[in-house]
Amino acid sequence: MNSFWKKCGVCKKEIGFQRAYQKCSISSCKKHAFCSVDCWAVHDSVMGHKSAYAEEERSPSAAEFQSKQESSSSQQRPRRRIVVNSPTENSSSPSHSSKGDLPSETLIVVSKLKNYVKAKSGMNTSGDVPDELSNFVRAIVNRAVDEAHKEGRKTLMARDFKNIEIN
Ligand SMILES: [Zn+2]
Ligand SMILES: [Zn+2]
Repeated sequence: MNSFWKKCGVCKKEIGFQRAYQKCSISSCKKHAFCSVDCWAVHDSVMGHKSAYAEEERSPSAAEFQSKQESSSSQQRPRRRIVVNSPTENSSSPSHSSKGDLPSETLIVVSKLKNYVKAKSGMNTSGDVPDELSNFVRAIVNRAVDEAHKEGRKTLMARDFKNIEIN
């Protein structure tokens, strides 16, 4: 395990765990840490930011840092992304699976969804959630149909959903 968290983006001095450090307010610079406002000011002049400022943050503890490293490395296995197209994009994109107008009704049992959300979180469910979720279901089913298609099957099976992950 590292004895320090990160090195300063300018002077390369080591920044320890649970220390105050400076972070650039520009979002594309947020991965850099600076040991002091002076070092951030050097970065600012090098980058030529227009209206940036230094934000004081606290570095994580060694344990937090370690667990974050582990979770980010476990996310490196390949994942399939579910892309939910809007209905207008769907109708213009040629797909072997769409024959004519696809039904776009709600695929979710609204009362059961609301019960689940309530039980899980105590939250209410807004009326536009079931339609949005139905778009997800359709997107996932489209992927699974492609899987079944590849195997030359005419029946969609549970295993077609196995490799589909939502992130
Ligand atoms: Zn520095
Ligand atoms: Zn910056």
